[in-house]
Amino acid sequence: MQIKLSAVFAFVFVIMIALLVRITLLITNEGEAYQRQVLSQQSYDSQSIPYRRGEITDRNGILLARSERVYNVIMDCREINSAQEYLQPTIDALVGIYGLDETKLRKTLTDEQTRDSQYQILLREISEEDKKKFEDYRNERADENLKEEAQAEFNASRMNVRGIWFEEKYKRTYPYSNLASTVIGFYSDQSTDNITGIEKYYNNLLTGVNGRVFGYLNDDSEYERTTIDPEHGKNLELTLDMNIQKIVQDKITAFDVELGDKEHHNKGAEHVGVVVMDPDTGEILAMATNNEFDLNDPWDMTLNYTGAEIKNMSDEEYVEHLNEMWTNICVSYAFEPGSTFKPVTVSSALECGAVADGDEFYCDGGEFVTDTQINCDNIYGHGEETLEYAIVNSCNDALMQIAMKMGISNFINYQGLFNFGKRTGIDLPNEASGFVYTRESMAEVELSTCSFGQGFTCNMIQEIAAFSAVINGGYYYQPHVLRQVTNSDGSVEKTVDSLVLKQPISSKSSSLLRRYLTTAVQEGTGRKSQVPGYLTGGKTGTAEKIDPTTGQRKKGSYILSFIGACPMDDPEVVIYVIVDEPNVPMQADSTYAQVLFRDIATEVYPYMGLYPTEEVTADLLYYLGLTYDDVVKSDVTEDQTFQVYDSYGTLYNDARINEDGVVVSSDGQPIAGVTVNADGNVVDAYWNVIEIDHKVSAEDILDPKADNPNIAAPPSSGGDDGSGTSWAGVTNEDLEDE
Ligand SMILES: [Zn+2]
Repeated sequence: MQIKLSAVFAFVFVIMIALLVRITLLITNEGEAYQRQVLSQQSYDSQSIPYRRGEITDRNGILLARSERVYNVIMDCREINSAQEYLQPTIDALVGIYGLDETKLRKTLTDEQTRDSQYQILLREISEEDKKKFEDYRNERADENLKEEAQAEFNASRMNVRGIWFEEKYKRTYPYSNLASTVIGFYSDQSTDNITGIEKYYNNLLTGVNGRVFGYLNDDSEYERTTIDPEHGKNLELTLDMNIQKIVQDKITAFDVELGDKEHHNKGAEHVGVVVMDPDTGEILAMATNNEFDLNDPWDMTLNYTGAEIKNMSDEEYVEHLNEMWTNICVSYAFEPGSTFKPVTVSSALECGAVADGDEFYCDGGEFVTDTQINCDNIYGHGEETLEYAIVNSCNDALMQIAMKMGISNFINYQGLFNFGKRTGIDLPNEASGFVYTRESMAEVELSTCSFGQGFTCNMIQEIAAFSAVINGGYYYQPHVLRQVTNSDGSVEKTVDSLVLKQPISSKSSSLLRRYLTTAVQEGTGRKSQVPGYLTGGKTGTAEKIDPTTGQRKKGSYILSFIGACPMDDPEVVIYVIVDEPNVPMQADSTYAQVLFRDIATEVYPYMGLYPTEEVTADLLYYLGLTYDDVVKSDVTEDQTFQVYDSYGTLYNDARINEDGVVVSSDGQPIAGVTVNADGNVVDAYWNVIEIDHKVSAEDILDPKADNPNIAAPPSSGGDDGSGTSWAGVTNEDLEDE
């Protein structure tokens, strides 16, 4: 058997974590010691004027990262010790204004180690206002009505405040805390490196050049003071829309609340990733994970772990969890996409002439390829179906037949044209390339499994960019996050235009796929993703994961996904959702991804100004477990309700089944001990069956997968040439060219 069940790579993610490990905690203190040493050697006659790091905003100008001017309070012990009369007034000022400890101050001023030091940091990052308090105090002069003696005493108490100065610096703050945290990333001048996200990728643009004030003797031996102004960093406007980002993060949070429990540190799945993209430009509108963190305090893990969990972590675990939290899985996680890849296979087959619209296939539940039985998800077979219904039914058998008609060479060629196996070059750090087979390493078994999205890996950006090309007329756009670069004075330095990298398929093939994908949502496996009133087209995915330690299929562990677009005559938005190992007993149910997609799309479509074009029928609402109220603000209809006893004997008059098939009371709370059985009827806590008129059938809720251990694992190395695409964001050189 030629299948290579390689253990090495199931998760490139694991490798990514290793790459990311930078134990910045250790660096912090060293950096400070160095700074202190340098500064103690210079007098404040020659002072550095710090540049301001560039701001980061979203596409609507909402400030996401800024640098606020703050001050460190520095004590020059040598100067204070240079005259006896400076000591007490200076200590009085520091104690009175900043509440510093007098004993400690005296110790610093007398200790052998520090009494001659010119650079002792007393306070860090105080505001302009607090700095002014000190200056006002020092400049205060006695009331002229006082006696002369008293005036002199008062003035001395102010004028003899010496040896205290304010070191100007900037503090990076993030007004929206955890919004888009894994995309924006964080910067800290306490460490020698900025760590993640845009802050890292565009560090060169955000960084400026310090200015300087210095004194020198000119040719006439006169003392002169010269100021060189700092050059502030450039400002970045991102393609993100914070309103869409917030919708996405709110829905992910709701998902975690619903499926999370203590054991899984309140997460609804091991990973959730969502990317929202404009298919006509490649602009990323939102990108989020279920590991967002507070950018203002990136070492704080309490958003993701309980206090007890953090306390019990070893140092190694702590660093590992920290890096995991900071990782943008939408970019750095390579996984098998599963059936969301099928539109790529079918459009490629149309394009190279291997199949045509209307071609028929017969699914008998699987194919015997070379020496291996590979099953369709429907092991009883889908029977006769057209090319369109191969997509609608998500039929593996038909997809294998389609790929066979294409042949290995064509398949590899188109997979490459859609950029799989190569980084997209998105302007974010640590993009995973994924692994694909080459012409040399692919045989018929691998071709078969790759046709339905298993046996190779990709990251979310690769999949959403390829899917966008499938539905937008065939154009593969460079996915990107940067929209514009401006100078500190607000003038525009560069605007990032959308860039078509290739055209893998024709507009004719693209329009056929738009039709197939629309049918897939209306009639096929994607029905739960429907947003009433809108025509969504899309594709589900359910891929059994691989156990990285054994290299075998990890039974019961799935990555569920849904990718969809709207409106289908000319798509304006694509939303891609992955749910990696949902916290439920039966994971093989793409409904979890579909419902999360629908929840997001239901708010994103109207926000983007898309108009509802479809009739909202009662049948559809019932099927989705929604009310008119959920989708239309008028015309409220009633859910079907029934009476049921909970396990405590309490009777509920208005019980109903919610959209997730859970029996809830009128206020939406689950009713203890009451379940829905396989026939879609309600079973109360005493095993009484309550017949429900409109049954929620098990078939509708679950999308059971055939156990398919024979599906080859992806290759451990392959197509990636490591180079990615030609574009790698905007660099300083680009700016100089303009
Ligand atoms: Zn089938």
